[in-house]
Amino acid sequence: MKRYEKQILIEEIGKEGQKKLMEGNVTIIGCGALGSNVANLLARAGVGKIRIVDRDFVELDNLHRHALFDEDDAKNMMPKAIAAKEKLQKVNSDVEIEAIVADVNASNVEKIIEGADIVIDALDNMETRFLINDACIKHNVPWIHGAVIATEGFTMNILPGKTACLRCLLPSPPPPASLPTCDTAGVMGGVVSVVASLEATEAIKFFVGEGMRKEAVHVDVWKGTWLPIKVERRKECVACGKRKFEFLAGKETEVAVLCGRNAVQVRPRKKAMIEFDEVAKRLKNVAEDVIATDYILRFKAEGKEFVVFEDGRAIIKGVADIAKAKTLYAKYLGL
Ligand SMILES: [Zn+2]
Repeated sequence: MKRYEKQILIEEIGKEGQKKLMEGNVTIIGCGALGSNVANLLARAGVGKIRIVDRDFVELDNLHRHALFDEDDAKNMMPKAIAAKEKLQKVNSDVEIEAIVADVNASNVEKIIEGADIVIDALDNMETRFLINDACIKHNVPWIHGAVIATEGFTMNILPGKTACLRCLLPSPPPPASLPTCDTAGVMGGVVSVVASLEATEAIKFFVGEGMRKEAVHVDVWKGTWLPIKVERRKECVACGKRKFEFLAGKETEVAVLCGRNAVQVRPRKKAMIEFDEVAKRLKNVAEDVIATDYILRFKAEGKEFVVFEDGRAIIKGVADIAKAKTLYAKYLGL
């Protein structure tokens, strides 16, 4: 308990609260800017079990806002979930950390939140948040929504059956390209830290049995503003009112344009387990710079960079067009 002495001194936590934290089980979805900061805070605070889920790998332009990662991780193209686990396990070996390198979609989201007392949204896209909302409302798991863009952030606690849910706030996801993204508006490290701190603090309050903040909050770190927002439950809400889980029932899309990147993710239609060495051999004559690590296979072809994960997913850099990305995937990976 020595490592937690200063935390135990906090009246609201105390020894009892610390024990509850150590029995806690949290799933953090997304391990980019928000997720790496939230995971860092919760692992240091001593939350017993932490599951970190992320589909991406570390790149140099992540480092200004992603806590935990360094230049070596970018050079080795480490999957973010694995890099976070390795770092945090050194910080606190008492905490059990599970890293899952996967894209969260309708077919796996319920499995991903299984066993979690609370789920933290550290994502960069609205579509997946609606999926988490469905899964968490259906299984009665509280979740904390958080989002950042430029110098602004927003966070809201969602307690199924008690508070408004994401679809009470936004009945449907905004149409594609209607919102600014990290690509167009950028994002500041400072606002990431603020929203991650708020999310982690609310999770800690949840574990120690303190009431969580009732209002959603909008912050702007540049202007220095803090705006609490009351979000009312809507009886006619499709998710928490009518308990229709449209996103869980939804069809998976094979492709997704990635936020903040000139890149497209392509998923194989069927589940696949890739043997990196075999594929590398096949690609030797048609691709350049073929490298296989323990976690990824990378190669270049037609001026594009491909990063392939074990589950057959590929992130193709240097392309923004979905049809073009699918063609390239079929041509070189053909799954
Ligand atoms: Zn609702």
